[in-house]
Amino acid sequence: MAQETPITSPKFMTDFRCAGGACPETCCSSFLVDVDRATFRAYMAVKAPDLGDQLKRHVKKRGNERTDSSYARIQLTPAGACPFLDDERLCSIQKRLGESGLSETCRSFPRERWTRDGRDYMGGKLSCPEAARLCLAAPDAMTLSDAGDAEPTVRGVVVAAIEAAARDRDLPIWKAILFAGVITETFLPEGQAEAAADAKLRQTIEDYAAETRQALLEEDFALGDQALTQLKILAAVALSAAAKCNPNLNRFPAISQRAIGAILEGAEGFDSARARYGALYRERFKPFDDAHDHALRNYVLNYLYVNRTFLSGPILPQFQTLAVKFGVIRLLLVGLSGVQPDGLDIDDYAAVVSAASRILDHDASVSAEISAALDAVEPRSASLAIRMVIPPA
Ligand code: SF4
Repeated sequence: MAQETPITSPKFMTDFRCAGGACPETCCSSFLVDVDRATFRAYMAVKAPDLGDQLKRHVKKRGNERTDSSYARIQLTPAGACPFLDDERLCSIQKRLGESGLSETCRSFPRERWTRDGRDYMGGKLSCPEAARLCLAAPDAMTLSDAGDAEPTVRGVVVAAIEAAARDRDLPIWKAILFAGVITETFLPEGQAEAAADAKLRQTIEDYAAETRQALLEEDFALGDQALTQLKILAAVALSAAAKCNPNLNRFPAISQRAIGAILEGAEGFDSARARYGALYRERFKPFDDAHDHALRNYVLNYLYVNRTFLSGPILPQFQTLAVKFGVIRLLLVGLSGVQPDGLDIDDYAAVVSAASRILDHDASVSAEISAALDAVEPRSASLAIRMVIPPA
């Protein structure tokens, strides 16, 4: 009998169940829903007059760009919702045809599956509020069922070192991102990432990683005047992303305005905005975050894992995107800490992470805009991206 290959997945995804009608920001709105070729054919053959007519009206074959997996698309309503979402905010296709009647996109979300070097992986997208809640709430949520060995390339060894730093509970997660910036800049210059890592080079990388970790543990960093640059860039990225959302369907615009408004409230100039940002960070955000260190750590671990960050492609834009997305999420939490009467709780983290991920991770233009925003201040600079994660003084 053929043996089933085990799938590597994080613990929280084995506990995942869709929240259904209780979901605060359903995936049945604002996303483009691709329909694969087999499902499209099955939809066009549905005989029940009401559902059959609806499917023919709302599911349209794509143009020349269609592929087997993205063969047709569900046309959203003018308000941006899926036309098959019923009054109870449940899927009418699933109700009538069962789960097997869903397209692959609808059936699998928020799961993502991929194969790498003969190993199968499954991860969860935190744009789903329930996946975000599970991932951020439990310290062991990002435990992998079977992590496997690092690839024997320079890239593989460096990525394994970054993951080890992100899992290191002695190293604050923002310092693990600094670690990623420093080690990728040192060992993954353009074009050299695919080189094989022989035993000597592997040892060199491991020694460098250990020294960098020690230096990061010993050094305390905080941004003084530069915190204003951080605040301006991160707030601009957040507000630009919010402008791309439908405020009736997405929570991100309201969250961004509330959080950034809380930082700028009463500020009479740049200096007082920077001072309030630093004070909120130290007095309201940091005590809760230190006590729930696993929340943003799990966000970063999941981001690295599900996006296969640094495992292919140019390194600098990936680092810039990681640093700025982390910075935006933390900025919004810092702001919310100033307006929540009882302070932050883990549900605030899940709301910010899922609402932000929905636009930051699913809109293909965001990463290019992040790189452009940083490059406009300091062209091709990992160091500016690093300054997006160092806390304000
Ligand atoms: S976003 Fe997640 S919890 Fe909400 S409806 Fe979709 S799969 Fe279910």
